[in-house]
Amino acid sequence: MSAPTYDLGKLHGGLRLEAHKAASTAEPVLQIPIPDQLVLPITQHAGDPAQPIVGIGEHVLKGQLIAEVDGSLGAPVHASSSGTVVAIEPWPVSRRHGDNAPCIVIECDGEDRPIDAADAAPDWSTVLPGILLKKILKGGIVGLGGAVFPTAQKLMEAITCDPDYLILNGVECEPYISCDDMLMREYAHEVLGGARILLRALELDTCYIAVESDKPAALQRLGEVLAELDDDSVVLKQVPTIYPSGGEDQLVQLVAGREVPSGGLPTDVGCLVQNVGTAAAIYRWVVRNEPLISRITTVTGDGVVRPVNVEARLGTTIADIIEYLGGYTEHAQQLIIGGPMTGKSVTSDRVPVVKATNCILVMSDAPVIGDEMPCIRCGDCAAVCPVQLLPQQLFWYTCADDEAKMRSHGLIDCIECGCCDLVCPSHIPLTADFRTAKARIRELADEKSRAKRARQRFEARNERIEKEQQVRDEELASQKASARQAGADAIAEIMKRKQRKDEDQ
Ligand code: SF4
Ligand code: SF4
Repeated sequence: MSAPTYDLGKLHGGLRLEAHKAASTAEPVLQIPIPDQLVLPITQHAGDPAQPIVGIGEHVLKGQLIAEVDGSLGAPVHASSSGTVVAIEPWPVSRRHGDNAPCIVIECDGEDRPIDAADAAPDWSTVLPGILLKKILKGGIVGLGGAVFPTAQKLMEAITCDPDYLILNGVECEPYISCDDMLMREYAHEVLGGARILLRALELDTCYIAVESDKPAALQRLGEVLAELDDDSVVLKQVPTIYPSGGEDQLVQLVAGREVPSGGLPTDVGCLVQNVGTAAAIYRWVVRNEPLISRITTVTGDGVVRPVNVEARLGTTIADIIEYLGGYTEHAQQLIIGGPMTGKSVTSDRVPVVKATNCILVMSDAPVIGDEMPCIRCGDCAAVCPVQLLPQQLFWYTCADDEAKMRSHGLIDCIECGCCDLVCPSHIPLTADFRTAKARIRELADEKSRAKRARQRFEARNERIEKEQQVRDEELASQKASARQAGADAIAEIMKRKQRKDEDQ
């Protein structure tokens, strides 16, 4: 095994932020006991909701499929412990749009009885790549770095692009979040096992695992396990601790020195990026037949008594986790799911842990930011933008609602990292503005595509009706011709008979 390498491409912009990770990494990952009740949203991924396939009153086993893929970009949902389905109803959740979503509620029986693991493949290295890939597609696995894009879809798309490298993202650059750091320290075998399974399934030769320089314990542990495995196909890459080096495009730039084109994907430049947590989830599913039913999440901030990383079953509510950790402190004023830069505030701790929950941040009130003032054109926002956008320009275009200009100035490439906000001396909420504008552009695009599909359906229907009418007209014409011919034949027969009769007389 070679030592971690440093030959990295340069990242534009970015910021060095205070980490705030020491508190949550001071002790090992804590296992959260089975709660009385699990609340499992049917949408824990980027695409259409999954469709429940269990009914109220039905008993389910741990790992059992309870909602199947329905529509595009779907991912199945599995029961994270055994028990009885007691409700399928709207429940508070954390997501960008809307605060309630349909959830399957399971009352746990405390026995944690698993489904049959007959499909497990402990010796995955002898399984054919195509069969491995098919297995990975069914595990309900999504990108655990935050985007929750269904892994199955991502792998299938990647195969068509014939990538050169697999890059595992162990760069956890946002302050406070340390779940991937602890995963790499404590479950290095699973991370590396997942990497090697992915290499075999995709028939690739090289996997880079990128880890930030402020995670020496994780780098060391991964290095030790790699040495045991004696596998040169996996290479550790240490990247500088700069926010947001963990963004997919930024990571590709850092690790492979390749620039993802505007509006493009890492696979456009030969790189497939997966989170280290996703790799570990793939390992568990392939080797133990355990679908994605739990995850490590960081619970931290000055509002929680015991900041620590926990492994919780999906569907465990934040209230249950905080109670197990000794409750809230007197500083607890706000609850954020995710980190302080890209997370989302929620108003209820009834929200469950889902596939995307990498951090539960309990904080005192946010520091008072000064009043918003006019832009002074200092250019600081552009200097820190990792995507090399011009945030001050974009801000004018969003104010003017000029969609064409927003598009031509790359708004859609904004990764909503928040760097421009942090440096803006005029306290302009640029990122929130860009997020809203992007959502509006996406909505308009969806509307346009819906309208296009409706027009295509309408035209296809008209075409079908015209064709059917044409067939009917042809049939009618043919029937008329037949009738005319039959009439003519009958008259001819009568004439023949008459002629024969006349001749006989
Ligand atoms: S939020 Fe968008 S515009 Fe602002 S720095 Fe990040 S990528 Fe650039
Ligand atoms: S940092 Fe703020 S004040 Fe400076 S150019 Fe950007 S938007 Fe204007």
